[in-house]
Order: sequence, then C-alpha cells, then structure tokens
Amino acid sequence: MPLPRVLPGFYSTRLATVFVVLVCLLLLFIDSMRSWEAKERRLSEAEMSTSNMTWSLAQHAEATLKEVDSILIGLVERVGVDGAEPPAIDRLRGFLSSRVASVAQLHSLSVFDRYGRLLVDSQTSISAPRYGADQEYFIHHRDHVDTGPYIGVPIKSKTAGGWIITLSRTIKLKDGSFGGVALANIDIRHFQQFYDSFDIGRNGMIYFALDKGIVLARRPLRNDSVGKDISNAPAFREYIAHSKSGTILIRSSQDEVERIVSYRHLDGYPMYVAAALSKEEVLAPWLADTYLHSAGVLVLASVLGVLGSRLVAQLRLRIRAERDALEARVTLEKLNQTLEKLALQDSLTRLANRRQFDIVIEDELNRAKRNRGSLALILIDVDHFKQYNDIYGHQAGDACLRQIGNTLKSFERRSGDLAARYGGEEFTVILSDTDRAGATIVARNVCQAVRNLGIAHSASPGRSVTISIGVSAFDVVERDDTADALIENADQAMYMAKAAGRDQVRLFIEA
Ligand code: GH3
Ligand code: MG
Ligand code: MG
Repeated sequence: MPLPRVLPGFYSTRLATVFVVLVCLLLLFIDSMRSWEAKERRLSEAEMSTSNMTWSLAQHAEATLKEVDSILIGLVERVGVDGAEPPAIDRLRGFLSSRVASVAQLHSLSVFDRYGRLLVDSQTSISAPRYGADQEYFIHHRDHVDTGPYIGVPIKSKTAGGWIITLSRTIKLKDGSFGGVALANIDIRHFQQFYDSFDIGRNGMIYFALDKGIVLARRPLRNDSVGKDISNAPAFREYIAHSKSGTILIRSSQDEVERIVSYRHLDGYPMYVAAALSKEEVLAPWLADTYLHSAGVLVLASVLGVLGSRLVAQLRLRIRAERDALEARVTLEKLNQTLEKLALQDSLTRLANRRQFDIVIEDELNRAKRNRGSLALILIDVDHFKQYNDIYGHQAGDACLRQIGNTLKSFERRSGDLAARYGGEEFTVILSDTDRAGATIVARNVCQAVRNLGIAHSASPGRSVTISIGVSAFDVVERDDTADALIENADQAMYMAKAAGRDQVRLFIEA
C-alpha cells in the first residue's frame, strides 16, 4: 500500500497554527479598535468640555461688563443732565462711591472733563489719574464721535499695583459737544478668581483678550501675560480672528504642548475668551487604561499562543507517530508477503514448493469432491540427471532444472492448475477438472516440450535432456479419495515409464 505524499495531518497542523494565530490577531485587533474608539470619545468629550467652558467664560465676561456699563450709562446721563457744578459734583461723588461699594468687580469710577481733568472719582484704592488727557481711552473718546462703550488696553494701576481693565463712555454736553469721559476700572483679579475655579489641569489655559489680540486676563498668570499682543500667534491669526467661535487642535510654538482650544467672541464687546486643555493630559487616563488593557491582552495572547503552539506540537507528534506506525505496518506487510512467498516458493526454479503443493492438492481435491469433478496429477522425473550433473557440473544441472521449471509453468492453464517442484529433480503438475485422457495428453505435451528444449545431454540415448512422466487421475473424485493415493499412483506410473525406457508417459491404471 503506497503512502500518500501529503498526509491529512499536515493540513490539520497548518489549520491549527493558522487558527491560533488568527485568534491572537483578532484579539489584538479588537482591543486596538476598542482603544481607538475610547481615545476618540475622550477627545470629543474634551472638545465638548472646552466649548462649554468658553460659553461660561463668555457669559461671565458679558455679565461683568454689562453691569459696569449700565452704571457708566447712568453716570453719563447724570453728568449730561446735572452738569459739573460743585453741588452736582458732590452728589455725583456719593453716587460713585455707592456703586463701587455695591458692585464687586467695580473698583473705581471717575469722571473727566473735556480737557481731561479729573472732575470726581469714587476715591477707592484703585483710582484714575488726576489728569487723563494723555490716556488712551480719553484720546479715543475725544477723537471718535460714537457713544458706545470703549475697552482700553489693560493698565497697570500705580495706586493698587495690579492690572485693571478700563471701560469708558463719552460724556456729551447738552449742545451735543464732547464733554469728557466717564471711566470704570475693573480689577482683573475678578476674572482671575473666576478662572481659578476651573479644572484645566497643569497645562490647560484660559484667555480673556481684546479682539485685536491684547491679553486682558489669563490663566496661568505670568508677569508678562497681561497687555501682551498675541495677534501674531497662529491660533489667533488662522482661527480666532476669523470666526465667532470654534474648537481647534493646535500645538503651541512656545511650549510645544498640543492643546484642544475652544474660543468664543463676546456679544456686544470686542473681546473673546478661550479655554484650552492639554491633549496629553486629556488622554492620560485613556493611556493608562490602554497600557493596562494592552498588557492584559498581550498576556492573554501569549498564553493562547503558547498553549496553541503546544497543542500544535502535540498534534504534530501524534501525526508523526501515526505516520511512523503506518509506515511500519506497510513495511511489515511487505515483509510478510515476501516471507509468505518465500515459504511457498522454490528458490531455484521459482515454482511452487512442496509446501504449497501439499496445500493446493488438498484444496483442489476438496473442491473436486464438492463438485464431483475430476482431478489429475502428473509426476515428472528427469532422466539420467545424476550423469548430467557429473558431465556438465552441478551449476549447469541447476540451470537445466530452471529451464524445465519454466516449461512446466507454461502448462498452468486453469485457475486450479499448479506446477511445483516436488523435490530434487522431480516435478509435478496439478491439473484441475482434468480426467485421465486429458491428463495423458497434457503429459505427452510436457514430455515433448522438454524434449524440444534441446538441452544437450551426451549420456542420454536421444543426446538431449528428457523426462519420464507418471499420470494419475480421478475422473470423478469420490469422498474417500485422497491426495496421497493420487501421488502414489502417479509415482508408480512414473516408475513404469522409467522401466519402459524413459522419455515417455505412463498412465496409472488400477489393477
Ligand atoms: P533416473 O533416470 O533413473 O532418474 O536417473 P537419475 O540419474 O536421474 O537418478 P536419480 O533420480 O536417482 O538421481 C537424481 C539426481 O539428481 C541426484 C542428484 O545429484 C540430482 N539432483 C537432485 N537435486 C538436484 C539439484 O537441485 N541440482 C542439481 N544440479 N542436481 C540435483
Ligand atoms: Mg529422481
Ligand atoms: Mg532422475
């Protein structure tokens, strides 16, 4: 039985390996997807949070400014109506002090006349200069006819030592001419305190700035933060200057921190607020979770990989063992066949040996008994063979026996026929379903065939090798007929042929 070139087991181990690798890859893929999703979620939550924060900051700034502005509107109206005479000024001082006392973010209020001279102030710690004509806000109101509020660049207050934001309005006289400036000072600490209440991490930022890019308040607050011009910063130039609100991801050129920045311009005031969170800080919990998760998944994948490879190795061993066993079985079977053949075959002539003859003659006899058929046997002895050996040598004798063997083999015509070496230079042919007459004809043909071989034999009367044949047959095999009787009878007939002068056939006839 030939072995298949590629055993089915080869595919099993391949399949198992592919399966284990696929499961591991799938595990890693699913975890990566989950991690990626978590990251995106975390970032969009941070965007939402900065956006909400700017909304609160804008609300706060607008409310703060509106409250102060409404006081300024009242003040401008009063000065316009009451004028700036000493009794009116005295009343005004009381009005200013009471407003400053009641509005937290408001630190001082002042009124300047058309020449910039201080008419009255709230006399609080942060107060306006005695002479305001050279101040930026005064120049703005004097030179612009519009009556809207004006937010000046932040000023470092000499009296209080802190930064203040100025909010001012033009005073118009009854005749419509420029009558001076009403000024409110707002301490930026009011904003800083509010900004401190937000959780923005270590690298987060909050900005409150003029639309033209001048910083009013900032967290974290540094010495040089307030009043700084940031109109050249990329975030301002590319985004904040162009839209009312938005959220961007931008890396700072100063500290190299990447931030999620939301900004919003105020309604009614030329200012904006911005809130920023560090992307790294936003993602820190996600990163920690991802490390932990990935470690877990890697351990799981490794365990799976190790177990899988063990399994595959086991499978491979088993398949190899099965293959070895199969190979051993095939080899054994071949060996057995060879041994069997050797046990039943004559090594010189390759004809059936005596053992096989004994088995087959019994089988054929039994078959003939069952069928009530006939069975014949011819027994052959080479004539003067002793002399042949003496003359031509033993090896030539062997060759002669082989030639005769081949000839006999050609007389196996039916399935039950068997040519065998009976022993020495004696042969026999079992002829199944053959009666006396048929067997005699076959025997004569055999005799003739050997004669025809023309093997030279100088001591033989015919100068060539001849044989003598005894024939015996049961025309109808009876129940008590035996193989021994058949052989014995053939033997007797064969001796009769010898006695009659050799090179002939004799049929055994019962006396
Ligand atoms: P006969 O005509 O009466 O049969 O004379 P014979 O010489 O053949 O006499 P016999 O049958 O007694 O002799 C058999 C001889 O065959 C003896 C032996 O040397 C020879 N012989 C038997 N087996 C072998 C064999 O295997 N090889 C060879 N070369 N010779 C064998
Ligand atoms: Mg003999
Ligand atoms: Mg002989």
